[in-house]
Amino acid sequence: MELDDHAEDLASDLGVDKEEVKDDLQNLVEYSVPVDEAKQSLRRKYGDGQSGGGGTPSAKDIADIDPDESNVTVTGVVLTAGERSIRYQGDDHVIVEGRLADESGVIDYTAWEDFGLEPGETITAGNAGVREWDGEPELNLGESTSLSFDAESLDVPYEVGGDAQLADLRTGDRAVSIEVDVLECERRTIDGRDGETEILSGVFGDESGRLPFTNWDPAPEIEDGGPVRIENAYVQEFRGVPEVNVSEFSTVAALDREIDVGSDTQTMAVGEAVRTGGIYDVEVVGNLLAVRDGSGLIQRCPECYRVIQKGQCRTHGDVDGIDDLRVKAILDDGTGTVTVVLDDELTERVYGGTLEDALEQAREAMDQAVVADRIRERIVGREYRVRGHLSVDEYGANLDAETFEESDDDPAARATAFLEVVDA
Ligand SMILES: [Zn+2]
Repeated sequence: MELDDHAEDLASDLGVDKEEVKDDLQNLVEYSVPVDEAKQSLRRKYGDGQSGGGGTPSAKDIADIDPDESNVTVTGVVLTAGERSIRYQGDDHVIVEGRLADESGVIDYTAWEDFGLEPGETITAGNAGVREWDGEPELNLGESTSLSFDAESLDVPYEVGGDAQLADLRTGDRAVSIEVDVLECERRTIDGRDGETEILSGVFGDESGRLPFTNWDPAPEIEDGGPVRIENAYVQEFRGVPEVNVSEFSTVAALDREIDVGSDTQTMAVGEAVRTGGIYDVEVVGNLLAVRDGSGLIQRCPECYRVIQKGQCRTHGDVDGIDDLRVKAILDDGTGTVTVVLDDELTERVYGGTLEDALEQAREAMDQAVVADRIRERIVGREYRVRGHLSVDEYGANLDAETFEESDDDPAARATAFLEVVDA
């Protein structure tokens, strides 16, 4: 449903001006208030007696909560409770998000009021709102919820706290705690909602992999680099991949242990990786089926750096191209295919020579296709282990390789293959 339709619905239900309702609704939705919650809150604002009424809902096990239900009463243990600031009707408003568990299951919640929720506490939330997110139910604890802290604590088969590994983080995760190394970090000035503000952005790594981050309130421990423990971070999608958000409510402390970044990285099936729609850091193993056109010795536009054909850039016309090396190769593991893209350094390795060598070979043959041919002979039909950034668009899946190694259980054979490349 469009925002306009929601506004029309509300306006006719509440008997108020549609434009007014629409402005309010737009404002709430822009600041990431879910549309259902925004509508509920406007119903309250415009005095619709129906919302939150209708008697006390019955107590439910978490596993039995249906996304279509409107209100429930639940008892559970607060596993995580993370504060986050959103702008709500023109004012900054602190909400608390986290997970609640009972013996039967776990559910995400958002608390729109300050109930003082702390991890480990057992609570009963009477008349909690239910909304659907991505097919799953979530709880809204708001004005109409009666919340009590239970003296008797509930025993649940889930760990209290939000400790997580980077590889397990998904968009929408809240109140997570991570122990990471700061691999890249830069200070940037952005146009924030309160004017110009400085933030840090970069890449975190842990044993399971790497993820980009934004630190909205620059923490010196992050800017200094090195291992840190971060509590109460949240995860949002940015440019197609999950991104760790470290806010003013997060705590950051230097960590007194080394982190062996990437030591536990899991290899994923190609099909599974492609179905995620994009992963910042992934490793796949597959057979190299073909080297695509546009590989080997290529020329780039000096203005936009895009690959050009016969000295012609699509945007900049007749240009003096810059010579470069790259490979676009098709990798397949039976579950799916990706186009692996090798940069100039990795291409020099698989070619077995430098850009100068490639230019000389092309000059001698009076044909630059010989460079791609030599790469083709060396890599097609072999199995490779590739790690890098995966992106998926309408044309297919591309894996920008950071490492590209022949996958071989026999280290001696691998060493020989490497030596062949070096000798060539
Ligand atoms: Zn150009």
